[in-house]
Amino acid sequence: MGLKFPVVVFGSATIGACGGFAVIFYHSYVNRIKTHVAGSVGILLIGISLLVLLPMMTSQPILSGLSVVVGGSIAMLLPVHDDTHVTPTEATSTAVALTLHQLMEGVVLAAAYVAGGVVGLIAALFLTAHTVVETAAVGTAYVVAGQYKRGGIAVVFMQTVYVIAAVVAFRSALAVPPAAEHITTAIVGSVLLVVGIHSCRCVIDDSISYS
Ligand SMILES: [Zn+2]
Repeated sequence: MGLKFPVVVFGSATIGACGGFAVIFYHSYVNRIKTHVAGSVGILLIGISLLVLLPMMTSQPILSGLSVVVGGSIAMLLPVHDDTHVTPTEATSTAVALTLHQLMEGVVLAAAYVAGGVVGLIAALFLTAHTVVETAAVGTAYVVAGQYKRGGIAVVFMQTVYVIAAVVAFRSALAVPPAAEHITTAIVGSVLLVVGIHSCRCVIDDSISYS
């Protein structure tokens, strides 16, 4: 790839964190009104969960289907809350799920680096670019929950896990067993769906009761 591995890992982690920091910075210094972001975070989380599950949908249709059904059902069963569209618990669940996801993606980044060439470069760029959206989702969830500082910490934490996973995988030529990766992906997809759909339900419920 021409670049040293530490440069690629830290570069990818830092650029990836920008999405989360941009959201938190914007809402803590520029615009504290969070009602308009409340409506978008649910859709963002549903989008990411489908993106996470997508690569698995053809190879593991039952597991990905189960992930969608379980996540969707829990989201529909949870009572709507009118005080906030994302609770601190939901923000933390989002962060934990995407940290788990970053653990996997760190290993993928190491594999992309080892593969090298154009394919490795495109994979590394794709990983970095879509992480911007994922940290932004974590940042937005915390902003809506009213926990700006925790959001910043969560973004740093998930990117630290990404770096550690990449370094460990690179050094030990480690690969995640497919079964473990599939189960993790299913759990991550489910959790994001629960928070995403539930948040949308709260927003919809709110707009109905106020109109
Ligand atoms: Zn990802």
